[in-house]
Amino acid sequence: MGILVVLETRNGELKKASLSAVTCARKISEITGLKYRLAIFNPNENSLEEVSYLGAEKVFVIRGEQFQNYTAENYTLAIEKIVRDNGEKYIIATATTFGKDLLPRVAAKLDGGMVSEIIEIIDDKTFKRLMYAGNIITTVKLESDIKVISVRGVAFDKAGKVDSKSQIEEVKINEKYEKKKFVKLEETKSERPELTEAQIVVSVGRGIKDPENIKLAEELADVLGAAIGASRAVVDAGWLPNDFQVGQTGKTVAPQLYIAIGISGAIQHIAGMKDSKVIAAINKDPEAPIFQIADVGLVADLFQVVPELTQKLKKLKEQAGA
Ligand SMILES: Cc1cc2nc3c(=O)[nH]c(=O)nc-3n(C[C@H](O)[C@H](O)[C@H](O)COP(=O)(O)OP(=O)(O)OC[C@H]3O[C@@H](n4cnc5c(N)ncnc54)[C@H](O)[C@@H]3O)c2cc1C
Repeated sequence: MGILVVLETRNGELKKASLSAVTCARKISEITGLKYRLAIFNPNENSLEEVSYLGAEKVFVIRGEQFQNYTAENYTLAIEKIVRDNGEKYIIATATTFGKDLLPRVAAKLDGGMVSEIIEIIDDKTFKRLMYAGNIITTVKLESDIKVISVRGVAFDKAGKVDSKSQIEEVKINEKYEKKKFVKLEETKSERPELTEAQIVVSVGRGIKDPENIKLAEELADVLGAAIGASRAVVDAGWLPNDFQVGQTGKTVAPQLYIAIGISGAIQHIAGMKDSKVIAAINKDPEAPIFQIADVGLVADLFQVVPELTQKLKKLKEQAGA
């Protein structure tokens, strides 16, 4: 009996967002006295080394050609087996695109109750979660024997290393889901940091007016070593790919600094970035809702101030010899 954390990997690399789920497991372990174990698919050597120092009782390593590329169906087969063999009572993952896609299937297959995107643990079965684009906090009680939980990454710190090493167990899964096949993954390649892991995010909205103008934000991002994000309006217009979208139906970010350029601040956008440490907004409309949550606001034409800001920061960097 225990707690199972499902970790996310991409090309063998551990996704750091998964570490928030480990912190959640540690808290549930403190409350229930249950041990937590980790499940990781096809990790590379570094990632396996890293996860074996996260304080888990055991790390289950699942390898195989059917897990090389993620499909919820194949991954669920493996998780089902681990849960049935070990009697896990909690299954936890971070609510990234991966966690959001995988866990509902896991819950359905195991007849578990599920709570999504929790922000707080009250007791062994009661959790707080956000609803309606973050406007309401609800308290949810899971009475099911198996509890499936996705964790809002920004609400839980990323788990740190411990001194002792976990036991590693290779799990053999011969089954394969045949009714669906992975065909190809189209990934946006970028030299910039990953949106959900960046310390600084420069985000663009419809105010940028034309995809050509996105380079203004990119130049600013490059001086700051920042990731690029976008509002849904920009993504819907096809100016940037879907994986740049921040918000309720996009990614949740909480960088040290979030710079919103030409973004009005609709509640669905705010839901994905309001936990950022410092929010800076540039908008020509002084009434734009984004200014209600911004720590720093600049009422100005972005086409004038963004290039100015980039030039000033470049100069400062040169003076600092960076
Ligand atoms: C179910 C649902 C889910 C949604 N999920 C998301 C989501 O995940 N993420 C998301 O972002 N949205 C989401 N939306 C859409 C959301 O409601 C807004 O429509 C969207 O966020 C608006 O994007 P925007 O701020 O870029 O555009 P707009 O609202 O059009 O704002 C553009 C802003 O640019 C400013 N501007 C214009 N020109 C300039 C200039 N020259 N200089 C400076 N400022 C300028 C304007 O003053 C304006 O404030 C969702 C909506 C629904 C219904």
